Amino acid sequence: MTSRKLIDLDEKIRLKVKKFIEACNEKGIEIIITCTYRDNEEQELLWQNGFSRLKGGLSKHNIKKNNIPSALACDIVPVIEGKAVWDNEALWNKIKIIANDCGLDDPISWDKGHFEEIKSI
Ligand SMILES: [Zn+2]
Repeated sequence: MTSRKLIDLDEKIRLKVKKFIEACNEKGIEIIITCTYRDNEEQELLWQNGFSRLKGGLSKHNIKKNNIPSALACDIVPVIEGKAVWDNEALWNKIKIIANDCGLDDPISWDKGHFEEIKSI
């Protein structure tokens, strides 16, 4: 099971993601969420098929608190005219700056569009 709902994010990150999406929209960048919470079975399948380097249960998308989905990461992609845009680096750079302003970062180089909370120093 893969969720795209904000409610399946941990409350620590949920508002930041909401702010991030809104801030992108305000700048004319349309963003869709492709994943918030992902269960362990789905993660295991991604790993087995080479789409992720993390086995089931090891991703920040797989976290549950009191058996309730509480993901600490969110996957997004910008959309132009209804199409996901993966290869426009100038656009991704703008998105990254907006994310940083909202307290989010994309620390995993092999997982494009994956954002999580900026680690406090
Ligand atoms: Zn991710």
